[in-house]
Amino acid sequence: MQFEGFAGNEKVKQTLSSFVDGERLPHVLLIEGPDGSGRRTLARLIAKAGLCKSKEEKPCGECSSCLKAKGGNHPDIFEIKDDFISQYKIQPMRELRQSAYIMPNESEQRFIILPDIQHMSETVQNVLLKILEEPPDYLLFILTCENRTQLLPTILSRTVCIALSSVEIPLATDIIKKILPDTSHKDASNAAAVFGGIIGQAIKGISDGSFRRVLELAPELALAVVAPDELTLLRLTARMEKDRDLVDGVLNLLALIFRDALVRRTGVEDDMSPSPETAQTLARTLKPNNLITLISTVEELRSLRQQHINHTLFLTLLCSRFRTAAGR
Ligand SMILES: [Zn+2]
Repeated sequence: MQFEGFAGNEKVKQTLSSFVDGERLPHVLLIEGPDGSGRRTLARLIAKAGLCKSKEEKPCGECSSCLKAKGGNHPDIFEIKDDFISQYKIQPMRELRQSAYIMPNESEQRFIILPDIQHMSETVQNVLLKILEEPPDYLLFILTCENRTQLLPTILSRTVCIALSSVEIPLATDIIKKILPDTSHKDASNAAAVFGGIIGQAIKGISDGSFRRVLELAPELALAVVAPDELTLLRLTARMEKDRDLVDGVLNLLALIFRDALVRRTGVEDDMSPSPETAQTLARTLKPNNLITLISTVEELRSLRQQHINHTLFLTLLCSRFRTAAGR
């Protein structure tokens, strides 16, 4: 199988290639990964490869089936494209269940792609489960989600799960440069680092300007963590009250700055963040123990985010946890 437009994730590629080449794709495949990690691109590639008529590497991109899939009008690929909130309700899912028994139009198989199924309530997941429990032989499902813990265990037990990971920074940098040729190498590389090697997020961040805002805000926040009083930190955090998109990038960049400061404490300069001055100031101000606690605090805050806690409460916790970790 070939993976045009989908980078990194070599192990995932090997697994999928063995499925496609052996013509034994699982009936229900779940692709797990953060926003921007290529879940949808991969889901479409798998369906395209599954229906490709070529005897060589799939998807060939040239056969009639590949051309229809590319144009988004293959009769044997059904995909919920957007408006998940209205589609992932009981009635549309019941209709989908009935349509499951429609035979393939021109292929041996039919694919149903349901992205971001974490938007389904438990009740709706239970309707989906009914289809997954007894799928006709010709029907294959490709589901995607952010995190498998958001799904019912009964759904998970029916799926083969594939987890996507971030892409190595140098490779991510090259791809960002290819997609946004006007971006400088430095910006592309910094965006790849700030967005943790998640290419889709880096592209979005550069395009909508949130990358610049993260670059500006995170170093200021890092310095505010060690400021004499907590007012500066509260004031800066308030910027993320409305601009929620900044939070993940800011946490990623803070982790890099704290890490660089810790490395500098050992006398080595090996910066991963684009803010070496900030790391230097923190290295002078904080003890290694505090820096280690700050790094693990970022991890804790990330997992709190995944639990979708109230945003205002989250920002308050962010302030207090960082101040405590810095021994303030
Ligand atoms: Zn083909």
